[in-house]
Amino acid sequence: MTSLLKQISCADDYDPDSLQVAQAREIILGLVEPIHGSERMAVRKALGRILAEDVISTANVPGHDNSAMDGYAVRFADLEDDRDTPLRLAGTAYAGRIYEGRVEAGECVRIMTGAVIPGNTDTVVIQEVVRAEGERIVVPPGQRRGQHVRLAGEDLRAGQPAIHAGKLLRPAELGLIASLGVAEVVVKRRLRVAFFSTGDELCSVGTPLKEGEVYDSNRYTIFGMLTRLGCDVIDLGVIRDSPASIEAAFRTATSQADAIVTSGGVSVGEADFIRGLMEKLGEVAFWKIAMRPGRPMAFGRIGSENTGAILFGLPGNPVAVMVTFYQFVREALLKMMGVSPIEALPQFRVPCVSALKKRPGRGEFQRGVLFRDNGEWKVRATGAQGSGILSSMSEANCFIAVEPERGNVEPGEPVDVQPFEGLI
Ligand code: AMP
Ligand code: MG
Repeated sequence: MTSLLKQISCADDYDPDSLQVAQAREIILGLVEPIHGSERMAVRKALGRILAEDVISTANVPGHDNSAMDGYAVRFADLEDDRDTPLRLAGTAYAGRIYEGRVEAGECVRIMTGAVIPGNTDTVVIQEVVRAEGERIVVPPGQRRGQHVRLAGEDLRAGQPAIHAGKLLRPAELGLIASLGVAEVVVKRRLRVAFFSTGDELCSVGTPLKEGEVYDSNRYTIFGMLTRLGCDVIDLGVIRDSPASIEAAFRTATSQADAIVTSGGVSVGEADFIRGLMEKLGEVAFWKIAMRPGRPMAFGRIGSENTGAILFGLPGNPVAVMVTFYQFVREALLKMMGVSPIEALPQFRVPCVSALKKRPGRGEFQRGVLFRDNGEWKVRATGAQGSGILSSMSEANCFIAVEPERGNVEPGEPVDVQPFEGLI
């Protein structure tokens, strides 16, 4: 990565003092690499983990053509296309109990959902449209060949990958794997992420607050965000603004973790000594990103190419921490965890009912509440948008992502929203 970061710093449009959000995201995503190492485990334990090897389908799923409905299995060729067709009822096929007999011309078999389609039949007529008269049924015209039949292998084909490596295992995947009769899967090992807060004014929860101190909330939001992502977290606590303690924290972090997330200490007033320190310990770029909140950020590697850890140095303000995490860190960590392909966050456009103040030139991530108004989805901004007002994140259910080039937004104008639910 070292040389790559250097390479990027030579690119024409690279200005560390005014980097666009999309550019920063691209650089970060381009430089991080998936970790090595995997483990085998029972399917249920693998929920939320990343598949390390393709799961190959050993058989067709479903294994046989079967009925999608309760009704009657018929031979389509027997049916009249312009009038009723009477058929003789030859027996019944149940789910899990095959109808063994042959079905002759003019015959049909009563069939339940999931039952194997009897030999010679090819079409299911749903019971609701059929008139049953003892041993005889009457099928109206207008049926389609092959209707209501689930074909063998239509879900998964034998020999084909059912799920590709790189997939995050959600409930659907657990079920899909189970449908193959597979009990264990190979998943990537968990990504280890160390985190700490920097600041002389910070006080850990459980200690009485002294004059001029604030409780360290970032370690709690960062803990939550990393845990929800499925990382193994290593909490290194609050680190004082002194080179010696920060250096010690970085050394501990690199010896234990694949990535390090810090908060605070990257703003202009503080960057200087940290910058020197980081240059000594690894290779780190300091950025001023054209965004709000979350302007200052550091990104790079602490330690050497093979033994080091990727550093995400986030700003100190509590809202900025969350915004930069979701805009930059989340995707990068997913890539390191082995997720492939990395998919963009869902984003869509809805009318904004609030007026938004904004200067052109930088992207803004305001906190919004998506709501339904007479069936139409709209968004309103939460109240105060200061980067220290964490209650705005708690009230919000989405980011309102306003494009860099845009100025003030008038009520009723469309804006892009990124819903919080579904981030993972
Ligand atoms: P900094 O980026 O270190 O200059 O911090 C910017 C602002 O965020 C200051 O008001 C800090 O007190 C506040 N801050 C920094 N770290 C934390 C933290 N871990 N928890 C809560 N507030 C913080
Ligand atoms: Mg600070």
